Amino acid sequence: MSLFDVYPLYDVTPRYAKDVFVYDDNGSKYLDLYGGHAVISIGHSHPKYVSAITNQVKKLGFYSNSIKNTLQQKLAERLGKLSGCSDYQLFMCNSGAEANENALKLASFHNGKSKILAFKNSFHGRTSAAVAATDNSKIVAPVNAQQIVDFVDLGDLNTVESILKHNATCAVIIECIQGVGGLGQSTTEFYQGLEALCQQYNTVLIADEVQSGFGRTGDFFAFQKHGLRPDIISIAKGMGNGFPVGGILIHPSIKPSFGLLGTTFGGNHLACAATLSVLDVIESENLMQNAADISEYFQEKAKQLPKLKAIKGRGLMLGLEFDFPISELRKQLIFKHHIFTGSAKNPNLIRILPPLTVQKVHIDMLFEALKTELD
Ligand code: PLP
Repeated sequence: MSLFDVYPLYDVTPRYAKDVFVYDDNGSKYLDLYGGHAVISIGHSHPKYVSAITNQVKKLGFYSNSIKNTLQQKLAERLGKLSGCSDYQLFMCNSGAEANENALKLASFHNGKSKILAFKNSFHGRTSAAVAATDNSKIVAPVNAQQIVDFVDLGDLNTVESILKHNATCAVIIECIQGVGGLGQSTTEFYQGLEALCQQYNTVLIADEVQSGFGRTGDFFAFQKHGLRPDIISIAKGMGNGFPVGGILIHPSIKPSFGLLGTTFGGNHLACAATLSVLDVIESENLMQNAADISEYFQEKAKQLPKLKAIKGRGLMLGLEFDFPISELRKQLIFKHHIFTGSAKNPNLIRILPPLTVQKVHIDMLFEALKTELD
């Protein structure tokens, strides 16, 4: 059987990985500044993580949500404490798309409305409703999504209000720093205004922290920079450091009832063990502070780069924008300098999403390589 060919893949076959480095089947070493779409948070094959998963699988890999799972309770407590969201409730699932689907469904159950408001250039996963795109995007919203999602320009509160006024929108979903769409951000005034409009028009505010959460911006969540209290927060990616796990954090004003949401695999014992060890390492190795420090270092170094148009993003969700398409440059970085980076919807933007364990010496390697190619 052949593979359904939907991914344009680089010809590198990883065999093993350690912290920020990946080794291929020829024994070549690559610096990973992309972390498989921002998934690797505490570094590849972290010893605490490997032993947490190994020990758990020896005891009990999986049992369904029909019986008590004390690891889920432990995880909810640790996550609440580290994220500063102790009063929220946790529902676990398996991926970012699934987290957003559950968030949207819950919003609709909560206020009885059905339309969704999302922002241009946002990306909320490959779901029927949670894909947002502009006309020129490669990521095209499916037909049914276009009937139920209003796409608004980031920063445009007037249009948001004109839509929410119709009392048909169950949820506004937003990334406080856009990922795939190219690291777009707005002002604190905008985000707080959006929160106020959601409250005024009985609309659920969903913060999509699938990519930006779990310490990547230097705060546990990207929305925390703006002092928000979203109704629902969706999480995945860095949560499991590669183990497929996702979830939503739900504000105490939204009440659960039996059967409202459900999943077979979500929150299984292995996923909990993986996530608990991620939280453990983020805390014990002070990785949120490291994300903030290395980000500052990166931005200083980037200023010295020739031909750079703009530095985008914050924390370790960063971008280098040039005034030419970067696809050839990225190929040089991979095949000549052995450095993984990412692309975005904007063809001129290189995205940097390293493990939160990345050090200055690794950033130096990137800028040395870029200087060689750009000089
Ligand atoms: N939300 C955001 C902000 C994302 O960046 C992504 C994936 O890139 C998703 C949701 C979807 O996550 P997943 O690929 O785990 O379904």
